[in-house]
Amino acid sequence: MNAEIIAVGTELLLGQIANTNGAYLAQKLAEIGVNVYYQTVVGDNPKRLESVLRMAENRSDLVLTIGGLGPTEDDLTKQIVARHLEEPLVTDTDAKKKIDEYAAKTGKNLTPNNAKQALKIQNAISLTNHNGFAVGDLYLSHHGTGYVLLPGPPAECIMMIDRELIPQLKKRGQQSHVFTSRVMRFIGIGESKLVDDLSDLIDHQTNPTIAPYAKMAEVTLRVTASAANEDQAETLIQDTVDKILARDGQYFYGYGDDNSLANVVVNQLIDRKLSITAAESLTAGEFQSTIGSVPGVSAVFPGGFVTYANEAKHQLLSIPSDVIDSQGVVSEATAIWMAKQARAKMQTDIAVSFTGVAGPDELEGQPAGTVWIGIAYRDEEPKAYLYRFTNGRQQIRARSVMAGLDLIRQ
Ligand code: ATP
Ligand code: MG
Repeated sequence: MNAEIIAVGTELLLGQIANTNGAYLAQKLAEIGVNVYYQTVVGDNPKRLESVLRMAENRSDLVLTIGGLGPTEDDLTKQIVARHLEEPLVTDTDAKKKIDEYAAKTGKNLTPNNAKQALKIQNAISLTNHNGFAVGDLYLSHHGTGYVLLPGPPAECIMMIDRELIPQLKKRGQQSHVFTSRVMRFIGIGESKLVDDLSDLIDHQTNPTIAPYAKMAEVTLRVTASAANEDQAETLIQDTVDKILARDGQYFYGYGDDNSLANVVVNQLIDRKLSITAAESLTAGEFQSTIGSVPGVSAVFPGGFVTYANEAKHQLLSIPSDVIDSQGVVSEATAIWMAKQARAKMQTDIAVSFTGVAGPDELEGQPAGTVWIGIAYRDEEPKAYLYRFTNGRQQIRARSVMAGLDLIRQ
């Protein structure tokens, strides 16, 4: 099923507000396997909305509008869609009752405009508005295309998507087939390389589909299958997941939309009862702050060091001055000393260290993005790894944190 989102509103068109409802809706549809092929923004203009509706109907199975369900003159979406569908508008009795009750409670006089918000398209399924008055619509078919009308205010729109629309679409989908998707997360591989490795699957496979998405330093793949039932969809997904893992399994670290690398790594440490500390120069505590965001980390993280200046490296970590003087602060030797000393001082199983050039200027003749990450693990010989990141100071620091997490990942 391919869908099209039409956001209605002159303020959206002119860029005065961002189309956050469209972004949210597209994500929620993707999660149930509905592909959004187009998103259109159109002003509060009947003629242009009508022409966008016609275009959408020709190319999409499901057309979803956002906005223009309110009481004012410029709120015309429902009237225009109804005319397009050649359906009258009728009063939704529940929605009308809610408006009347509100009027009675607050002593306000109803205007005809208020009553307008209780109108629904005849033959549409009403979508209850849990945060407002304007009722939403799900109209199943007009020349084979379904229509959905959602209100503009984000609190109303999001609640209607979550509580009304998605459950309705899922229920309807299940009569013929189910959509299931699984998100796979990768670290240490770029999006272009991953897409290249999987290009035959991504380009030619239609069930499941594979959709890549790159975030800061990591890449996710959403694998979505449709099948007659949940079990069959899962089998299809597993089959594709296995193919992907056979090619790029070494970079895979976990499943799930919200499952961050920090979350995976910290939980591995908790499971394996391995304590950790860190000595951070260019990241200035960002690594510790990141693991600190995971609930339960206190079981494995007693604390650590932020040693930005060289003096702090001497004072807090007792790194001999001749190491930094002779080898440089951005060096393998300094990274190793930082990790070794941090571990010794905090008595942990693992210590990670970060020293490098966050930029924008170079340091010791080394370009911005040169980063050494040291690892000390129990009594093993400590090691350090060299990275060359790009894309500016904040990206360099964030990528360093991700690389540090990746190094201690099992
Ligand atoms: P209202 O009852 O408030 O008039 P409505 O359904 O008619 O609601 P609009 O008038 O189009 O919706 O928009 C109401 C407010 O919701 C806008 O001022 C804007 O702040 C916000 N809004 C509208 N569309 C979007 C969108 N696509 N993304 C984010 N916010 C939006
Ligand atoms: Mg409005």
